[in-house]
Amino acid sequence: MTNAMDKPNVRYEHGTIVLVEDDIHIAELVDIYLRDAGFRVLQATDGERGLELIRLNQPDLVILDIGLPGELDGLEVCKELRKSSEIPIVILTARDDEIDRIIGLELGADDYVTKPFAPRELAARVKAILRRSEKKERVGEGPFRVGDIVVDVVRREVTQGGEIVQMTAREFDLLAHFVEHVGIAYTRQQLLDAVWGSGWYGDERTVDVHVRQLRRKLGDGLPLATVWGVGYRCG
Ligand code: CA
Repeated sequence: MTNAMDKPNVRYEHGTIVLVEDDIHIAELVDIYLRDAGFRVLQATDGERGLELIRLNQPDLVILDIGLPGELDGLEVCKELRKSSEIPIVILTARDDEIDRIIGLELGADDYVTKPFAPRELAARVKAILRRSEKKERVGEGPFRVGDIVVDVVRREVTQGGEIVQMTAREFDLLAHFVEHVGIAYTRQQLLDAVWGSGWYGDERTVDVHVRQLRRKLGDGLPLATVWGVGYRCG
C-alpha cells in the first residue's frame, strides 16, 4: 500500500516521511496524524518496498516497525539504510522489548517509540528530531580537532587520520558535543538534554549505546573517559 502517487503538487510544510509498518490500523492512524502535522507520508508494509520508497523519494525521516513480514525486518532495513545514509530513523518496538530497542540504536536508529503509543506523541517526536537536524547548519563553527580526529560541524563530516568515518546523525551530534566541550564531565542526563533534546524521554542507556558506537568507530583515537558515578568526559 502506498500513497506515493497522490497529490504530487501539494507542498508539504515539514517534509516527507516514509512509514514502514505492516499493521494497517497503526499505519493509518500514524498517517492521519503526520499529515495533519504537515508531513507527506509514504507507506510501505514490508522492508523491501520500504527501501525502494526511500531510495526513490529521498524522505526527510523514516519510521520503521521492527516486526515486518518478508525477508527484511525493521532492524535489517535500518542496517541497510545506515550503509549509505544518515537519514533520521525512528523505530517502533513492541512494549518492553529492550533488546530490540538497544539493537536498533546500535544499528543507528535515532530514536524509538514503544507500542502502544499515542500518534500525537510520535508526531511530536518526529518534529523534534527534524528541528534538531535543521539546527545543525551551524556555519562558521569549527572544525574541531581531538588527536587525529577532525569533526567538521558545517560539512557534518568526521575524519580520522584523513579518512572519513561514517556516523549516524545522532552519533555525530554526540561526538560534536564532546569535542566542542573538551575537558568537561557530563552526566548521561545532561547529554540526553544537550544532544537528544529536553523533550526526549528515553532512558540513559541510550547514551551508553551511542558512546559504545563512537568508541568502536574511533578506537583509542577518541579520548573519551568514563567518569564513574557521573558520566563521560572527552579529553
Ligand atoms: Ca509489525
